[in-house]
Amino acid sequence: MIGAGLSGLAAARRVIAQGHDAVVFEKSRGLGGRLATRRTDDGMPIDHGAPALDAPDGTELAAIATELCPNAVRYPSIATPPAYDTIRSPLVFVDGITQFAKQLADGIEIIRGIRITTLRTVPAGFELGDEQGNSHGQFSGVIVSAPAPQAADLLENGPSDPERIAFLRSVAYAPAVMVACGVIGVTIPPQLMSDGRTEVVLRCINESAKRASPQAGESACVVQFTPEYSGAAYVDATDDQIIAKALEELRAQWGAGCELTWTQVKRWRFASCVPHRIPDDINPSDARIVLCGDAVSSPGMEHIYASGQCAADQLLAALTS
Ligand SMILES: Cc1cc2nc3c(=O)[nH]c(=O)nc-3n(C[C@H](O)[C@H](O)[C@H](O)COP(=O)(O)OP(=O)(O)OC[C@H]3O[C@@H](n4cnc5c(N)ncnc54)[C@H](O)[C@@H]3O)c2cc1C
Repeated sequence: MIGAGLSGLAAARRVIAQGHDAVVFEKSRGLGGRLATRRTDDGMPIDHGAPALDAPDGTELAAIATELCPNAVRYPSIATPPAYDTIRSPLVFVDGITQFAKQLADGIEIIRGIRITTLRTVPAGFELGDEQGNSHGQFSGVIVSAPAPQAADLLENGPSDPERIAFLRSVAYAPAVMVACGVIGVTIPPQLMSDGRTEVVLRCINESAKRASPQAGESACVVQFTPEYSGAAYVDATDDQIIAKALEELRAQWGAGCELTWTQVKRWRFASCVPHRIPDDINPSDARIVLCGDAVSSPGMEHIYASGQCAADQLLAALTS
């Protein structure tokens, strides 16, 4: 598996559950990909990527998340979520969303801090290599769960695959700029909010469900800017300008007495896929390099999770046929 996000971990679990070996390569030091948690200086976990797991009751994703993390908190459903960045049924993790990723990863061999850049065909399957030219072993099949632009880069250094590369290059992503902050002087409602939305702010999330509570009188919040504002700010704005904009928006929404006690800015270039049509044959039945993740699944985290499971089933079928 390339990538230890939601779909890559789902794929690895499925391969192992079917009695096969799996190794996950992850370029970063953390687990979860865009399900990402940071800690404040006081040690409070803050979700600075996707703010919650979108896991509607009755889905397999909800079942596994609540089984692995029984202390997850169910926030009220959002009736009118913003355009394609939908979280209809938020599940929030008291240690941050990577708590779930860590539980999903339990028992899986994960090699972190290695960016796989080449997939060289060898008699046994594929030899995986990194940008320094080091080999990371030979594998009979590969599941690629990276966001589309990174998956395309990888496939370009593998066996000829022009159609899938062209498709991956066509998938557009909305950027997201986030400000995590301590807020004093006003009262912020204690739940994930869609009503914090303005022309500039996509959502404002109160992180109060997290295990280490903020200081008395303080709310820990994450302000996520709209794709439009994020796209411009991603390259042009300094952190100070972004923080000033977040403060201006919070004051407009919750009151002029709002002050920020601490701040962290995070910029995501590829946050969420813009909805797009997925070719029926994106993973041909004999493919030994199988794609999963949001580039090749319907919108919605339960579908992204399922895309990992499907990729695993498909690869195992191809390898054993
Ligand atoms: C700020 C933000 C807000 C979001 N809001 C929503 C929302 O409201 N609703 C919603 O449905 N979704 C939302 N998302 C998107 C959602 O989080 C993702 O769609 C989902 O987590 C994607 O999972 P994935 O497994 O497909 O990919 P990722 O989580 O991106 O996992 C891919 C992994 O592959 C690794 N990787 C990439 N290339 C390589 C390589 N060459 N070698 C090794 N490792 C590699 C990456 O480091 C990453 O860990 C949001 C995301 C962000 C960042």
